[in-house]
Amino acid sequence: MIINGTVVDLAYSLKNSDGEVLDQADKADPFTYLHGASQIVPGLESALEGLKIGDKKDVTVTPAEGYGEINPDLKLTVSRAQFPKDAEIEEGMQFETQTPDGQGIVFTIEEIAGDKVSIDGNHPLAGQSLHFAVEVLSMREATQEEITHGHAHGPDGHHGHDHEMGEHHGSEDDDHHNH
Ligand SMILES: [Zn+2]
Repeated sequence: MIINGTVVDLAYSLKNSDGEVLDQADKADPFTYLHGASQIVPGLESALEGLKIGDKKDVTVTPAEGYGEINPDLKLTVSRAQFPKDAEIEEGMQFETQTPDGQGIVFTIEEIAGDKVSIDGNHPLAGQSLHFAVEVLSMREATQEEITHGHAHGPDGHHGHDHEMGEHHGSEDDDHHNH
């Protein structure tokens, strides 16, 4: 049964309210996470609590329990000159910047019009209801190392390759695993 400290392998699909598939993992390449470590959105994590191997569940997650509501303060228009001179920027590109308190925010370039660049620091899935269909494939107890790191490793508890559910930042690199 899924409780805090369980490493869970899931097959899942994630659709938006229009029925478009945003992300998925199948049985051949399941998504693995550590339950109770906030590796997945809160609304999905709480819905998976107590499930057993073989269980299937459809879960609708509200924006508040998902990637948050859209914050209009994170939609900004800046001048092209604020980017490094040699930076090639184009619509759809993402870059990370830090707030004064040191928090990293990923901005997406929404539009470039002359010297004006519209950027959006909301998560691409902010403001959206998320429709998950999940199947619990397998589970095991987390290793002490996984508990310490706050994320799941490979099938045997060692560092492996992984990706984060719902992440669309254009990179499959997972810097969790550079330690
Ligand atoms: Zn680790």
